[in-house]
This record gives sequence, structure tokens and C-alpha cells, in this order.
Amino acid sequence: MERGYKNMDSKNKVAVIGSGVGGLAIAIRLAIKGYKVSVFEANEYVGGKLSNIDSGEFRFDAGPSLFTMPALVDELFILAGKNLSENFKYNKLNEICRYFWSHEKSLIVNSDLEEFDKEVVKLFNENPNAVKKYLDASAKKYETLAPLFLEKSLHKFSTWFSKDAFKGYIRILSMGIFKTLHAENQNAFKSLEMVQLFDRYATYNGSDPNQTPGTMGIIPHLEYNIGAFFPEGGMRSITDALYELGKELGVNYTFNTKISKIEVSNKEVKGLWSEETYLGDFENIISNMDVTPTYTNLLKDQKAPLKILNQEKSGSGLIFYWGVKGNYSKLGLHNILFSENYAEEFRHQFSLRNIYDDPTVYINISSKLKHTDAPVGHENWFVLINAPHEAGQNWEEIIERTKKNIIVKVKKILDIDLNELIVTEEILDPRKIKLKTSSDKGALYGNSSNNRFAAFLRHPNRSKKIKNLYFVGGSVHPGGGIPLALSSAKIVDSYFKNTK
Ligand code: FAD
Repeated sequence: MERGYKNMDSKNKVAVIGSGVGGLAIAIRLAIKGYKVSVFEANEYVGGKLSNIDSGEFRFDAGPSLFTMPALVDELFILAGKNLSENFKYNKLNEICRYFWSHEKSLIVNSDLEEFDKEVVKLFNENPNAVKKYLDASAKKYETLAPLFLEKSLHKFSTWFSKDAFKGYIRILSMGIFKTLHAENQNAFKSLEMVQLFDRYATYNGSDPNQTPGTMGIIPHLEYNIGAFFPEGGMRSITDALYELGKELGVNYTFNTKISKIEVSNKEVKGLWSEETYLGDFENIISNMDVTPTYTNLLKDQKAPLKILNQEKSGSGLIFYWGVKGNYSKLGLHNILFSENYAEEFRHQFSLRNIYDDPTVYINISSKLKHTDAPVGHENWFVLINAPHEAGQNWEEIIERTKKNIIVKVKKILDIDLNELIVTEEILDPRKIKLKTSSDKGALYGNSSNNRFAAFLRHPNRSKKIKNLYFVGGSVHPGGGIPLALSSAKIVDSYFKNTK
């Protein structure tokens, strides 16, 4: 391979490392602008965390199960001039989630928010309109914070010093940045059930409601005011549709190719290596893999931004993919069986780095809507427990114990005895998440948001030290989850000129 200056043929050539949702989105955006884009993916399949698990006759979405802000996906088809309804179909959910506290106490939350308010007054003696007030405040937080912190680079002068930014700083002080989410929720609701229900939103970015700031009260706005959605082909169809769109636009994808080094010359990216093979010169390189291994494995000769990389990581997940015999009308697409002691559950996850014996159990059953995901007379249960990130725990012991605890809880609350009903089983734990996606410590959402400055301590989308090196995806600004990974691609796109 040639060292030193880049081959002139590299002009307008972009390499993307990883085909997670963020990588797929930036590949599309830059292909539209006329760049020659190549995506290199270590796995044999597309999508990273947003992929598939097949088990016998059952199909499961491997990772994300909740789809919010579909407009960020639509935007990619619109930019490409494609007809949305022909390429990617999804529907708004009427029923958002079923919550269970005990055998006797449960709540079905529908998209009709007035009904939500009335139900919680009746069931939990909650204050009238408490939910409406909370969700209005959540919308306000979103309107203030999103344009400032989610849709722009935090590392551009204009983001911090515009007139809108100053207005935002003044409002932010009243938006709970100095309180925890739990304290904010205690102020907003008198019933323990509603406090717990809205505390759960901390887990949407792998955090603890007793530590994460009240500004995280922004998240329910996405699910309730904008809505929760389900793609007709299951979650996996999001990355499938983006992959197909990229192909149509001329993006070149290479699978089974693990990038081992980013060649840097004179403080500028030069090209990529996969083991002993030099893959060529690229004018720009965009890493969609987790930012920590990007530095520790691919940029070994460069100084790593340790202050950012050494932040506490978000939580992870322990997931059981169970093919279950029978059909259960008590359950919907999204179901939560709450822990009786939420604070203790989070203490186990974040302080003891373990899983509590009375965990909150999330059951997602995509076959409720996409019937072909399970054979007739069966359901596909994706059962997720919030878990600590990988820290050398005895996972075999944790998995065995947690499985027993889930089965006891499902029997107690739902009166369903899983002992006789599980016909297929696959398990994903933080070690495997790390192995399959290269996420540092198997964290689901990059750095945790367990402190009020976390939003400012995510790695920027463009390297300050190495010219033409960029970052997209859940481990960098603005954060984890499908909508934010898509937003990171939008921010990186803003650095590129149209070549046409
Ligand atoms: P990733 O999905 O992290 O993919 C990175 C890709 O890079 C992978 O394909 C990997 O193989 C590849 N790669 C890594 N190293 C290399 C290398 N050296 N060379 C080549 N390729 C490499 N989000 C939601 O919005 N809603 C949810 O309900 C939700 N639930 C979740 C549940 C689970 C169990 C998990 C795991 C995640 C969940 N998330 C959810 C988070 C969401 O999945 C992620 O934030 C998002 O998919 C991350 O996308 P990404 O662009 O960062 O790429």
C-alpha cells in the first residue's frame, strides 16, 4: 500500500464503518449529494443492533422494539425523491403500552390522552389533568431543547451563541436540569404508579431515574404527543428499507469485513485496513461503530479523548427471545410488569452491577400485529430486563436466576405458567451485544445519562484533531436510540457540500 499522500482518485470517496441505522442514514444522505459511498460491515448482515433473530418458526426483532419519530426515516426517502408508501410502511399505534403492577392492578394506555388522564384518576386517585400537564411540559422541553441540543452540533460556535440559544439557556433552568427525573415526577404526580410509569423513561437511554436529570422528561413527548409506531414488516424493516434505498442510490456495501485500522497521514484520514488488506484511499471516513473501540482499535497511534471515552456507560439488556405456545389476550404489543421496588432495581443495575430479583419485565410481542412472526397458536415473546453493562459478572448465574424470577413474576401477575409453554429460546446478554455490535461494554446507548452534563460530554460528530474523520450513531452526539442515531447522520450531513 502507498503511504503518505492520498491518491487523487479518492476525491469525493466516503467510507462508512458499520451498517447500523446511523451508518445507513449517512450513506444515503451523502450518496444523494453525489459522493461515492462504501459501507464496510463486520457482520454478514445489515443493521447492527436493529437486526433480526430467527429461532425455529419464530422471527424476532433483535434489539429495538419501540419506533418513535418515523419522520426521520421518511425524510431519507423524501430527500431521495422516493414514494414513501411504496418503500416503507408503518402505522401509528392506538394502544401504546399495557402496564401491570400486580395481578389486580393494571392500566392500558391508549393514544387518546384524555382517556389516559381519566383512567389514572379512577384507578390511582391521581390529580385530574396531571398527565396532560406533564405531557404539555414535556412538549415544551422538546421544543426548547431539540433545536439546541439534538438537531445541531454542540461543537459549532453558532450553536452556543445564537439568539435562540440564549433564550434556550434561560428556559432550561426551569426544565429540571438541577433535579432528578424521579424528583420531577414526584412533583408532577401524587400516585406512586404514575411516578413509576414516568420514571421508566430514564431506561429509554439506559439511565437511572434517581440520577438522570429532569430534562429527560422530554422523552414521553415523543411516545405520547407525537406517537408510537410499528413498521408493517417489523422493526427490522427499518434497516432493510434503508439498505435497499442506499443500494438504489449507488452505495456500495461490503459485509464480513471488519475494519482494523484507519490510516491517518499528516493529521488527515487516508484510507482503511481490514487485517492485512488495504481497502483503498478515501477522502472522508465516517465511523458508525462505537466511538470507544474506534479509538482503541482503529486509531491506536492517535491520542484518544479519554475524558469523553471514560464516562460511565449506559445500561445494557438481558433479552430472552421465547417462542411461546398459546395466545394471550391479556397482553398487547408492548407490556411492562413493574418491579415492586424500582429504586432497588436501579441500585442493583447501576451500583451493584447486577440484576435485582424482582426486575421490571418488558414483554414485546410483535406477532400480535405481524402474525407471521410466530406459527399459528403461538406468540413470539421478546422479554427484556434492564441489565448492567458488562463488567466481568458471572452472567451464567445471572441468566439462570433471572429466568426463574421472570417465570415466577409472569405466573404471579398474568397467571401464565411459562414452564410448560416455552418452545424455543435464544438469549442475548451484554457480552454478546458487545461481541455482535462492538459496543463498548455491551452498553445499549453509549455513555449513560446519569449526570446532568452527560449531554455535553458525548463525542462530537466531527473530529477536531483528524481532518475528514466523522462519527455517527448511538455512542456519539446527540445520543442513543434510533431517532438520535438518525439525527447524528443529519448533523454529519450538514458538514458536506453537494458535489452535483
Ligand atoms: P449500531 O447498531 O451500534 O451498529 C454499529 C455497526 O457497526 C454494527 O453493525 C457493527 O457490526 C458494525 N461494526 C462495529 N465495528 C466494526 C468494524 N471494526 N468494522 C466494520 N463494522 C463494524 N432504540 C430505540 O429507538 N427504541 C428501542 O426500543 C430500543 N431498544 C433497544 C433494545 C436493545 C436490546 C438494543 C440492543 C438497543 C435498543 N435501542 C433502542 C437502541 C438502538 O438500537 C441503537 O441506539 C441504534 O440502533 C444504534 O445504531 P447505530 O447507528 O449506533 O449502530
